[in-house]
Amino acid sequence: MKIIRTLYDMTEFSVRQRDRNASVGFVPTMGALHEGHLSLVKRAVEENEVTVVSVFVNPIQFNNQEDFKKYPRTEEEDFKLLAAAGVDAVFAPTADEMYPEEEKACKEYFLGKASEVMEGKYRPGHFQGVARVLDILFRLVNPHRAYFGEKDFQQIAVVRNLVKSEGINVEIVACPIKRASDGLALSSRNSRLTEEQRSVAPEIYQTLKYSVEYSRDHSVQATHDTVVEHLDSIPGMSVEYFDIVDARTLAPIEEWDESDWIVGCITVYVGDVRLIDNIAYRIPN
Ligand code: AMP
Repeated sequence: MKIIRTLYDMTEFSVRQRDRNASVGFVPTMGALHEGHLSLVKRAVEENEVTVVSVFVNPIQFNNQEDFKKYPRTEEEDFKLLAAAGVDAVFAPTADEMYPEEEKACKEYFLGKASEVMEGKYRPGHFQGVARVLDILFRLVNPHRAYFGEKDFQQIAVVRNLVKSEGINVEIVACPIKRASDGLALSSRNSRLTEEQRSVAPEIYQTLKYSVEYSRDHSVQATHDTVVEHLDSIPGMSVEYFDIVDARTLAPIEEWDESDWIVGCITVYVGDVRLIDNIAYRIPN
């Protein structure tokens, strides 16, 4: 596996793959890799002749500097996992390499209404930072397909808007959420949970699952409230938002018959660790 640190070397690698007509799959990550990331990598390796993974903790998508500083970094271990998974190249630049001085005055991306709700509302600037890094990465890696996890459900909708508005020719592939055996969605941030916090964190998914049953004979509002009330009643847990939305537009819905594809997206603080998850209430046939 090739370890690439500079923009120049990344471009050179990509041009070579295109020259020899190899299909390229790309998995952007912030490292501290777990089985969730690796499920995306596995799929990319299966579906493409060449797989590139980026490992870059993107400073400009963090609206909270403390969160950025505390974000886990396990580069050596990540590289071992990626090599074992059959990855051809890992791109792990420094922040200075990615954002040279003149690049800092960056443009505003058009990301549509999907970027204004939920994460967009609670993390100002987050999606502009995600868009900026992906715009650079897509142009360097020039992949045929890019793989994203449905754990970050909203991110996928925003990325689809980004590639459309920027005219980037890449197929966006959405991959299902990987969970621990107790239901907790795998996340790099889980490593920051204390033992006690880790033992209550699965309540997030258990509550979401229960709410799907509950929703069969209750309104959208009642379903929303039962989730929030239950999770807020657990010591150390605090719901930041829980939005039940149309999965295509991410606009909030009021009635279950408003859409054939409905998801509930949640963000919960467990202590000072911010965890996100989501669940489907309706899935199109
Ligand atoms: P991150 O390193 O958190 O930026 O995540 C990199 C990619 O891995 C994103 O597309 C995430 O949605 C995806 N991902 C993270 N956790 C999971 C998970 N538990 N299951 C599936 N995909 C995931």
